[in-house]
Amino acid sequence: MKCVNVLLPLHVEQLYTYLVPASLNDRVMPGYRVTVPFGKSKTYTGIVIEVEERATAVGLKEVTGMLDEHPFVSAQQMALWQWISSYYICFAGDVLRAALPSGLQWDKAEPFSPITERYIRCTLPPFEGVLTTKQSQLLSILSNTNKPEEGIARKNLVKMPEGSEAILSALLKKGAAEAFERVVPPQIKFEEKRHADPIPHLDENQALAIKAISDATSQQKPALLYGVAGSGKSVVCAHLIHKALQSGKQVLYLIPDAKATSYSIARLSRYFGNRTVVYHAKTTQRDRLNLWSVLSAGNTEPLLVIGVHSALFLPFTNLGLIIVDEEHNDSYKHSASAPRYHARNVALMLAKLHNADIILNSTAPAIESYSHALSGKYALAELGNRYNSAPIPTIHIENSVELRRKKIQKGLFSPLLLTKMEQAFATKQQVVLFHNRKHYARILECNECGWTPVCSLCQVALPYAKQKNRLICSYCGNGYPLPGACPSCGGETKLKGVGTEQIEDEVQALFPDLRIARMDSETVTSEQPFFAMVDEFNMGEIDLIIGTQMIVGNIDFARVRLVGVVNGDLLLNVPDFRAHEKAFQTLTQLAGYAGRDGNPSDVVIQAAQAQTPLMQAVKEYDYARMYALQCDERKQYDYPPFTRLIRILLSGANEAMLFVVAQEYHRLLTAKLGSRVSGPVEMPVREGKYAAPTLVFLLKIEASASFVSVRSVINGIYATASTEIAGFKKLKIVYDVDPV
Ligand SMILES: [Zn+2]
Ligand SMILES: [Zn+2]
Repeated sequence: MKCVNVLLPLHVEQLYTYLVPASLNDRVMPGYRVTVPFGKSKTYTGIVIEVEERATAVGLKEVTGMLDEHPFVSAQQMALWQWISSYYICFAGDVLRAALPSGLQWDKAEPFSPITERYIRCTLPPFEGVLTTKQSQLLSILSNTNKPEEGIARKNLVKMPEGSEAILSALLKKGAAEAFERVVPPQIKFEEKRHADPIPHLDENQALAIKAISDATSQQKPALLYGVAGSGKSVVCAHLIHKALQSGKQVLYLIPDAKATSYSIARLSRYFGNRTVVYHAKTTQRDRLNLWSVLSAGNTEPLLVIGVHSALFLPFTNLGLIIVDEEHNDSYKHSASAPRYHARNVALMLAKLHNADIILNSTAPAIESYSHALSGKYALAELGNRYNSAPIPTIHIENSVELRRKKIQKGLFSPLLLTKMEQAFATKQQVVLFHNRKHYARILECNECGWTPVCSLCQVALPYAKQKNRLICSYCGNGYPLPGACPSCGGETKLKGVGTEQIEDEVQALFPDLRIARMDSETVTSEQPFFAMVDEFNMGEIDLIIGTQMIVGNIDFARVRLVGVVNGDLLLNVPDFRAHEKAFQTLTQLAGYAGRDGNPSDVVIQAAQAQTPLMQAVKEYDYARMYALQCDERKQYDYPPFTRLIRILLSGANEAMLFVVAQEYHRLLTAKLGSRVSGPVEMPVREGKYAAPTLVFLLKIEASASFVSVRSVINGIYATASTEIAGFKKLKIVYDVDPV
C-alpha cells in the first residue's frame, strides 16, 4: 500500500504517515502539498517528504487532497530545510513555517484563492434590440476581438475611446453584454519596464576584483569582496549580476533589512529594472504568492531578486549567483523564533545546493568570514581605494577625557567637532551625528580616565544589575562588587548615559537656525518616518541628523560633509565579546556616509578610549590590525572563530523550580561537555518573549567539531534530562546556535 510521510507545520520532530487513496496513487510525489486530517477534527496542509510502500496500513488515516499540479517544494529546498533543522537544532516543522510565505493557510484545507479579474463579453445569441450609436460601437469592439468568448478586461474596456462607465452599464443592463470573473495566471511583479542604464566601466582595481572572484567561483569557492565605502563594490556586483542574467540565471541579492532596500533598489534597478523583483516585509502577500507560484511551476527565466532573509526560501529553479550585501550585519541573524538561523550561513548552503556562485560583500567583514578568507576557504577580493580616486574621509579621534581635564571641552562637543560643524553649516553642507544607545544594561565608567570594568574570565564589559547592586557578567554569571574609586586612576566612577534628546537640545542652543531631525526609537517607530526623514535630508530640508544605531547601514545619504560620534566609548563598553569588532564596523560604515559626493570630508569620534589600539585602527581604516587584535583576544578566551557558540535558554513560570531544574541540567551538561559549559546566568528581566524567568547557558564548542555530533550530544542530554529530571519537560528550552 502506498503511504506518504508528511511534514506538518507543527513544533515537533517527526513526520506523519498517511495512506494514499487510489485516486491519488499515480500523482503523489515528494514536494507536493497534501491536505490531511489531524487529531479529532483538524485538517492541515503538509508537504510530502517521502513516498513508501507498506505491507499494512492499519490505523493510518488517508490523505484527503492534493493541492498542486507540480511539486510545490523542490528537492533542493527540502535539503536546505533539513540542513537548517540539523545545524540550528530545531524542528523541521518550525523550518517549514518560516520557509513558506505567509498567506498559505496551513490549518485549513484550502490553497490560497486564485486572483480573478472582471471581464466583459457580448452575449449569445447576439443582441437584436435597439442600441444608441455609442453603445453599438462598444459592442462591436467586443464582438470583433479575436476570441469574443474570452472577452476584454473591464478596466481596459472602459478606458478605450469608445468606452465609458455609462455606455458599458447600459450594454449590461440591456443584456447585450455580460460580465464574468476570469482567473488571472500568477505573474511576477517586476520593478519597472524602462530601458536599463549602462553599467559604469570597471577601473583597474575593480577589474582585478572581478578576476579574483571569477577564479574563486570557478573552483566553487565563496568570494569575500571587501572595500571601504565608496570603493565601487556595487559596480563590481552589477557586472557580476549582469553576467549571470546574460547567461540566463536567477540571481539573489540579499540585504540585511528593509532599511537597505531603497538604496539597493535605487542602485540596481537602474541597470536591471525590468528583471528586478523585490521581496521583503512590504511586498504584498499576493505578490509573494505569485512569485512562489511562478517559480515553483518551473519558470527558469533570468531575474534578480532583491530580498531580506525570507527570500532564501524561494523555490529558485535556476539560481546562478547569490550576493550577500553587508555580510557582517547582525540583522542577518534571525533570533526571535525558531529556526534561529544566520542568513549568511544559509545563503552559503543554498549556493552549494544549487552549485551557484556566492559573494559576501562588506565594508568591514565579519571576523569569521575574514578568517575563512585568510585560511583559503574563501577567496579574498579587495578594493583598496575609493572609486574614481575620491578622497576617503579623514577620521579624527578626540580624547574626551583629556579635553575635559584640561577644561578645553565644556559641553558635549569638542572644539574640533564644533569647528567642523560650523564650517559645514556655513557652506550649506550636511552633518550626521551618531549616538549609540543600544544598551543591554547600564555600564559603569570612570569620569577621569574612561576606565570600564570587565569580567576577568570572559573579557567583556560588565553591566550593572540594579536589583543586586552588583556588576554581573552576562556570559558566565560571575558577580563583582561596585568599585568605590577607579582602580586605574583613583577617579570617580559613574553609571553613564546621555540621550539623543540632550544632544539635540545642545546643538539647537549652539545653532538656533539649524533644521535638525532626530532618529531614535522615540521619533521613528516604523519604516515610514524613517524613509521620510532620509528623503527630507537628501532634499536639503534638514541640515543635521542625530541618529542612533538605526542610521548605521546602507542608507543613501548623498551630501554629508561631516560625521560626528558623540561618545565612541558607548560602542566599546558593550557586554559582548564582539563589541570591538562591531565598533570598528559601525564606525567605518558611518565614516562611509561622509564625502560621497567626492568632496573632502571629516569624521570626528569623541572617546575616552582614544588611545586604544582599536581606535587607532579605526583612524587608519586598518581592518587587518583590528582583526589581529581581536584574534589574539578570542583565541585566549575561546571565542569564535576559534570556537562555535551555542546558547541554551531555559525558562519557566515557576522561578524556584527553574533554578532547581537548571542545576540538575547543568550537571548533565558538564558531565558530557566539561569546561565547554558556562553559566547559567539569569537573563535580565525583559518584556515580551523573555517575560518568564530565564536562565542562559553558553557552550563553547571547538570549531573543528562536526555539528552533527554536537547536535547528537545535545539531543542526548535533552533525552536524559527529560527522563531523569522531575519538572524538566515543563520548562521551555531554546537552542541558539551561533548567537550574535
Ligand atoms: Zn579612572
Ligand atoms: Zn564572565
